[in-house]
Amino acid sequence: MAKRIRYEKVTVTDFASEGKCIYKSETDGVIFIEGNVAPGDVVDLEVFRKKKNFQEASVVHTHHYSDKRAEPYCDHFQTCGGCKWQHIRYSEQLQFKEQQVRDHMIRIGKIKDANVLSIVPSGKKLFYRNKLEFTFSNARWLTNEEISSDNVYTRNALGFHVPKRFDKVFTVEKCHLQPDPSNAIRNGLHQWAEGRGLEYYNIRDNKGMLRNLIIRTANTGEVMVIVQFAEERDELIEEVMTFLQDRFPEITSLNYIINQKGNDSYQDQQVVHFSGAKAIRETMEALTFLVGPKSFYQTNSDQAYQLYQIAREYAGLSGSELVYDLYTGTGTIANFIAKNAKQVIGVEYIEEAVADARINADLNAISNTIFFAGDMKQLLTGDFLEANGYPEVIITDPPRAGMDPAVVETILNAGPQRIVYVSCNTATQARDILLLSGQYRVEKIQPVDMFPNTHHVESVALLTKI
Ligand code: SAH
Repeated sequence: MAKRIRYEKVTVTDFASEGKCIYKSETDGVIFIEGNVAPGDVVDLEVFRKKKNFQEASVVHTHHYSDKRAEPYCDHFQTCGGCKWQHIRYSEQLQFKEQQVRDHMIRIGKIKDANVLSIVPSGKKLFYRNKLEFTFSNARWLTNEEISSDNVYTRNALGFHVPKRFDKVFTVEKCHLQPDPSNAIRNGLHQWAEGRGLEYYNIRDNKGMLRNLIIRTANTGEVMVIVQFAEERDELIEEVMTFLQDRFPEITSLNYIINQKGNDSYQDQQVVHFSGAKAIRETMEALTFLVGPKSFYQTNSDQAYQLYQIAREYAGLSGSELVYDLYTGTGTIANFIAKNAKQVIGVEYIEEAVADARINADLNAISNTIFFAGDMKQLLTGDFLEANGYPEVIITDPPRAGMDPAVVETILNAGPQRIVYVSCNTATQARDILLLSGQYRVEKIQPVDMFPNTHHVESVALLTKI
C-alpha cells in the first residue's frame, strides 16, 4: 500500500466554504480539512484525497487548540451531521459568515465597495428549530464509546442518520436544536416501542413497521407529530397513536402516514389525521399562519421574523405599490408586507404551498394578495407583466440554486424601482446580482444568522434602479 502523505505540526489557516477549514502554504499547497478542527489549531494531517489543485485531509492529532474554539455542548458531536460548528465560538462563527458574504459579493458579484452590514445574530443559539425528522432503524450505529462500554444495546435506533451512511442511524438522547417537548416525545416513543417489541424499519429490505417521526413545534406552543409507518397494520397503528395521545397531551395535532415507498419523503403521501387540530399555528406580529403537515415554514421562526422585517424595510413601501413576491412558498412574506402595499402578487411552483398561502391570507382577512402556481421561468413572462401590472418593487427569495437567467431577464424587463433579494446561498445571490448590475446598484447587503452552529448564512440585498 502506498504510504499516506502526512503533514506534521501545521497551523490551520482559515475557514473555507461548506463549513470546512483550510491549511495553505507555499510548499504544501491547498488542503481542505473537515470535522473537529478550527483555524489556529496546530495539527498533524493525513491526506485521503489528492486532486490537481488541492488535497483533502483529516486530522490525526491536535497539538494545540485554537482560541477560536468553544467547548462542544452535545454528546452526539462528531457522530451527528448537525451543528458541526459547535466547537467554534459564536462570535467567530458570525465573523466568518459575514466575511463570506463580503467575499462572495466582491469575488463573484464584482462589487468593489460592497456595503455588507454587520450580521444580525440569532437570539437563540440552541433550541431554535421548529421542525425535526427522526428515523427508526433496526441497524443501530454504535459509537466507539458505546462499543467499548459494558452496556448492552439492542439493534433498534431512533435518531438521525450517520453522515454519508444512508443505512445507519444513531439513537439521539438529547438534541439541542428543537425546544421541549421534542426530546421527551422522541425518547418516550422509543422506550415504549422497544418495550412493546414493535419492529423498527430496515431500509435495505423496506420492512419493519416504525419508519420515521416528524415533530413540529410552533411559537404559539402548539406541537404537531407525524409518524410514518412502513406497513399497513391498523391495530398496531392505533396503539402507537393512542400511546402518543395519552402520554403527551402537549401534542395538539397528531397525524400519521403509511409510506411503503423506497424513501421517507412524504410530500406525495396521504396524511391521516388522528386527533387534535389538523394544523398548528405560528404567529408573527398581528398575523397567524396555519402550518399543516406538509406546509413549508421557515425553520427558525424568530429569525424568520428578523429576516422579514429587513425585507419589509428594504422594500420601502408607502401603501401605493404593486409588489411581486417571487418564490413565495406559503406566502409568508407576501402576507407579512400586504398591509404596506396596494397589492402583492406571489409566485411559487408547489400547488399545496400556494393553497396554504391563500388560506393564510383569508385567515388574516388580507384581501390584497394574489397567488399564482407555476414554474417561475414559464409563468413570469412579458405577458404576465402585461396582464398583472409592472411592479414598483420585486422581492425574490429563490432556493439555493438562485434564479434562472431567464427569470433575471424578465425582472430586468419589469424594471422595478427596487429589488429585495433574500437568499440562503450568497454565492448564487452574488452571481445573480452581477447579472442585474447593468441596471441596478447594490445599496446594502444584510447578512442574517438563522442557523447557529452551522456554516449556513442568509442575506438580504437591496438593489435600486440606476
Ligand atoms: N419566501 C418563502 C420561501 C422561500 S424558499 C418563505 O420565506 O417562506 C424558496 C421557494 O421557491 C420554495 O417554496 C420552492 O418551492 C420555490 N421554488 C423553487 N424553484 C421554483 C421555481 N422554478 N418556480 C417557482 N418556485 C420555485
